[in-house]
Amino acid sequence: MHHNILEIKQLKTYFFTRSGVVKAVDSVNFGIRRGESLCLVGESGCGKTATALSILRLIDSPPGKIIDGEIRYHDEDLLRCSGKRLRQIRGHGIAMIFQDPQSSLNPVFTVGDQIAEQIRMHLKLKRRPTMERTLHLMEQVGIPRARERMKDYPHQFSGGMRQRIMIAAALSCGPEILIADEPTTALDTTIKEQILDIFRDLKQQREMSILFITHDLGTVAGIADRIVVMYGGRIAEVGTVYDIFDQPKHPYTHGLIDCLPDISARSDRLTSIPGMIPSLIDPPDGCIFSPRCPRSMMVCRQKRPKEVIVSKEHLVACHLYS
Ligand code: SF4
Repeated sequence: MHHNILEIKQLKTYFFTRSGVVKAVDSVNFGIRRGESLCLVGESGCGKTATALSILRLIDSPPGKIIDGEIRYHDEDLLRCSGKRLRQIRGHGIAMIFQDPQSSLNPVFTVGDQIAEQIRMHLKLKRRPTMERTLHLMEQVGIPRARERMKDYPHQFSGGMRQRIMIAAALSCGPEILIADEPTTALDTTIKEQILDIFRDLKQQREMSILFITHDLGTVAGIADRIVVMYGGRIAEVGTVYDIFDQPKHPYTHGLIDCLPDISARSDRLTSIPGMIPSLIDPPDGCIFSPRCPRSMMVCRQKRPKEVIVSKEHLVACHLYS
């Protein structure tokens, strides 16, 4: 049995909007194991970010609300622990970085102070060791001339460098789990590769678990141990990298793989999955992928598919396999 350090069970996060109830996360289950990197993949609007924000109870409420479920971190349910306890866990136990470092860094403080603040708050170190640790973290994420640059402000850094600073801040208290929500999306290809390298190193050097969220299946091949494919607020398929890339079962996973640019093909064939991303307000009965699914059957429009075990690590929610 693999030991999950974080376990998400039957999570439901809804948004109550003027146009109706958006079921952004609709009975989602998965676990994160110690030292693994788990990638959560799906098109934008599929509920990935809402899932991640629910873990740390960072959903804006209203309009959002976690309706049901359990988020087990060691022996605690994060959905039921006190606000004080949750603040201890944030940063120290579970840290999160976002797509846009601009919005998470405070423009009026130096980057050194912002990283140091985390350390002071959670680890309660004295000034000197705090500064040493800040410097070490900045060096670790590859910021050149870190000692001088600690005194600079966020706007004096490029986008890629700002993302490195966010990673340093997230690592400052030695979290057990790092949640990274589209950390490379706003960056150009070269910088993106450099940031992915940092994640690869982190995984090797520290026994840290990483939940890496992305819309781009191509990005995850190099860093994921396992992949969770989400569609329409629900889990479509879970498996190892091998399962997902070489033995995909869910028609949606097939579609995502077909959309990856094929480097061996001469033509610049770029496919995309036909049909619209479903509205999560009043989703169709049955399988939420059925309006776009090339293999949809009668039962698909009537019953929501259950998760079926394909092999040891491989799960799929699709009527083709039940
Ligand atoms: Fe397609 Fe049916 Fe499977 Fe849904 S359950 S993915 S509609 S075959």
